[in-house]
Amino acid sequence: MKALDELTFDNRFARLGDAFSTHVLPEPLDEPSLVVASKAAMALLDLDPAVAQTPVFAELFGGHKLWAEAEPRAMVYSGHQFGGYTPQLGDGRGLLLGEVYNEAGEHWDLHLKGAGMTPYSRMGDGRAVLRSSIREFLASEALHALGIPTSRALCVIGSSTPVWREKQERGAMVLRLAHSHIRFGHFEYFYYTKKPEQQAELAEHVLNLHYPECREQPEPYLAMFREIVERNAEMIAKWQAYGFCHGVMNTDNMSILGITFDFGPFAFLDDFDAHFICNHSDHEGRYSFSNQVPIGQWNLSALAQALTPFISVDALKEALGLYLPLYQAHYLDLMRRRLGLTTAEDADPQLVERLLKLMQNSGVDYTLFFRRLGDESAALAVARLRDDFVDMAGFDAWAEQYKARVARDGDYTQEQRRERMHAVNPLYILRNYLAQNAIAAAESGDYSEVRRLHEVLTRPFEEQAGMEQYAQRPPDWGKHLEISCSS
Ligand code: AMP
Ligand code: MG
Repeated sequence: MKALDELTFDNRFARLGDAFSTHVLPEPLDEPSLVVASKAAMALLDLDPAVAQTPVFAELFGGHKLWAEAEPRAMVYSGHQFGGYTPQLGDGRGLLLGEVYNEAGEHWDLHLKGAGMTPYSRMGDGRAVLRSSIREFLASEALHALGIPTSRALCVIGSSTPVWREKQERGAMVLRLAHSHIRFGHFEYFYYTKKPEQQAELAEHVLNLHYPECREQPEPYLAMFREIVERNAEMIAKWQAYGFCHGVMNTDNMSILGITFDFGPFAFLDDFDAHFICNHSDHEGRYSFSNQVPIGQWNLSALAQALTPFISVDALKEALGLYLPLYQAHYLDLMRRRLGLTTAEDADPQLVERLLKLMQNSGVDYTLFFRRLGDESAALAVARLRDDFVDMAGFDAWAEQYKARVARDGDYTQEQRRERMHAVNPLYILRNYLAQNAIAAAESGDYSEVRRLHEVLTRPFEEQAGMEQYAQRPPDWGKHLEISCSS
């Protein structure tokens, strides 16, 4: 266990130099104080959890102090936003403080979001508000607990600094951890600004640091792109299987590591709705829940375009062709497990599809349905669940198919079925209304609800005594919350 001043830095991205990022100091928050910290994320840096309670913790992550070895930098990148190319973006309000390596030899980027203006702030103020910082913190740690690849969050620091959005709010910072903060948009920036040398340097950097095994392949860059395709297919399959809607899948928000990244107006589905749009600025539904699958491929094509200096177009196309079949395989595998199945049959995709249509038509809670399905034998569970469906005849037909499928699947006890299903079907997810309750309390100075919700979400599959209220469908007020994009 380390104290805060014992972190060891090795700032590999900063060493790429000024063509890639600009040195900027964080702009401190007034009266920084700890809102919430993640013990599990602190452990990634070998940090003693007790240090979160010390004043220096809030000072470091509230922008007042820096380690001598830190080299805060704002990264430059660009990207496709809602389908159109924006030539210059970059860290407008976040700083890469440096790269820390832990005792296991892993490197973690320390990225402070809400750290003030940078050369890439454009019209923005460089700040993040408390509510969006809490949302990013909770989502990162909740997705990780569900087994979905994601950036992590170490802490949220609150303050008395006024920040103007639709109304006056208070500034906060969230400390994000990831093995890299390089986005698809980094490659696009050097491609479209026609800087082949820097682009090659970036590609070498990513290959050496994050995909070293691809070096052994005959075409290392192609192998790396294939791996990125595979990781994205798997990540998006997990989003779809668990009902996570990212909301802003612009290529500047897509990580080169295939992890969930840059949380904005995201949401988990309450009722199943394939057409759900969580981002209220997304008028055409480009990033609706079901569109995440083709958009994942669209984004990979944008990355492929930026990689044409290194890889032949035919090879890139072939690699892109891997995306859908891989996505489908991962998705189906997860959905089978969610249904309690251990074997594969050709008609399983239809079984899943039919169920989702029925859930869609009846507005059935996506998370609780699967959880309850595992509570009892298939026959008892469907008999109980049928009341949630408007089209009962439709559900009965599906239930007959499902029971027959379960019978063919194998001979196991109800205890085994429950254990297996509960291990993949969470009881607790980050419902928008739960986040909203925690944020409302935090905005009035009470952080206990954020901390409790975070604790519950770190063990989503385990029934926790006294926490029933976190496993409920939203009340009416919490069903269609408008999450502001101005975070
Ligand atoms: P996002 O939609 O959060 O991914 O942000 C898109 C771009 O806008 C990124 O380059 C951000 O750094 C920048 N940005 C977002 N909010 C702010 C802000 N309040 N101040 C400065 N830049 C911002
Ligand atoms: Mg972004």
